[in-house]
Amino acid sequence: MSFSINVEKIKPSATMAVSALAKRLKAEGRDVIDMSAGEPDYDTPAHIAEAGIEGIRAGKTRYTPAPGMPELRQAIARALSDRTGHELDPAGIVVTSGAKQALFNSCFCLFGPGDDVLISSPYWTSYPEIVSLARANPVPVAGAEERDFRLTPDDLDRVAGPSARGLIYSSPSNPTGTVYPREELRRLVEWARHRRIWLIADEIYRAINFTGVEGQPAPGLLDLPVDSLGNYVLIDGASKAFAMTGWRLGFSYCETRVAKELAAVQSHVSSNAATPSQMAALAAYTDRIRTDRAVKEMVAAFRRRRDLIVRLVDELLPDLTYVKPHGAFYLFCRVDSTFDDGVPDSTAFCNWVLEETGVALVPGVAFGDDRYVRMSYALSDALIEDAIKRLADALARR
Ligand code: PMP
Ligand code: GLU
Repeated sequence: MSFSINVEKIKPSATMAVSALAKRLKAEGRDVIDMSAGEPDYDTPAHIAEAGIEGIRAGKTRYTPAPGMPELRQAIARALSDRTGHELDPAGIVVTSGAKQALFNSCFCLFGPGDDVLISSPYWTSYPEIVSLARANPVPVAGAEERDFRLTPDDLDRVAGPSARGLIYSSPSNPTGTVYPREELRRLVEWARHRRIWLIADEIYRAINFTGVEGQPAPGLLDLPVDSLGNYVLIDGASKAFAMTGWRLGFSYCETRVAKELAAVQSHVSSNAATPSQMAALAAYTDRIRTDRAVKEMVAAFRRRRDLIVRLVDELLPDLTYVKPHGAFYLFCRVDSTFDDGVPDSTAFCNWVLEETGVALVPGVAFGDDRYVRMSYALSDALIEDAIKRLADALARR
């Protein structure tokens, strides 16, 4: 059977595949600790979930305009405006079925055959695939390891040829947890503006930030002066900050003219994000006192777990190095010092660890660096402790 060239290079999402495998093994009765899933382990805050349920009861079960309910677009624009000082136009917001779709809409609209799209590496596994689905050319570019892989204009100048049209990055980063300080972000933005390159700024983990003042989000694009910004699409959503991964609710923000194009793509692909999910998100972005309280509690727990996993790895796995995590809920750990003929790469390492210990990790190769593995620490303290002990014991036995 042959398929179209649209999917010639596509691979299924490795993060979703490992997470599905971990769930299957658990269902079969295996003692699995799942550090693969990139999602908060919390329930959606009650006032948000109730608003979704109430929406269903009130008959909010029909189509909405493709870019989202006007009142939700307004509420998101209001929330972002209040936080950043930029006055956002609700017409620039497109509500999507998860941030993933916002990324797809953007890449599909802005890039095509012959275009190079630079991707900050290590990258979230779906970026190169989405760029390839748009038939553009993904070009991974890594900053120096000593700088936690954060990019500088020099790094970008080295790889950006005349066909470079876009740059995608996430801060806080999946998979490394690194966070761009405001000044570094400014330099990146300036570089893109001068080169007339579209910046796709993925800020889905922005609330889960351990830098700066406690409880404040990570520095973001809209913290910078308006006139310093060139062409950009900001990607965000409810999945991570509000523990709403299954509701499938994200959004993009950009210039109105571009937002119209993104909405046009979406109107043919999926129409609107699920209406009850939009009702839930409306409560999240409107009842901000309750939402902020819930987010602060979750972020405080992630920070505590970050401290715990870093301490355990330092104590029990002193030969392994890792990127110092300052946001999101991932530890990107370098394991190539343990490789041998039997376990020669990150995929073999993760298979071996799962078999030996029941701990599910995602191989670094899925994020563009085969020397590493990614551990999600969106787990209870007890499970984090158990997982790192199992890992240390298994490595000691080898
Ligand atoms: N960007 C990054 C960096 C992510 O980790 C994720 C999570 N899968 C997404 C986008 C997509 O988020 P969503 O679940 O809202 O589609
Ligand atoms: N963002 C998460 C991860 O990286 C969820 C899975 C996915 O969509 O890739 O694991």
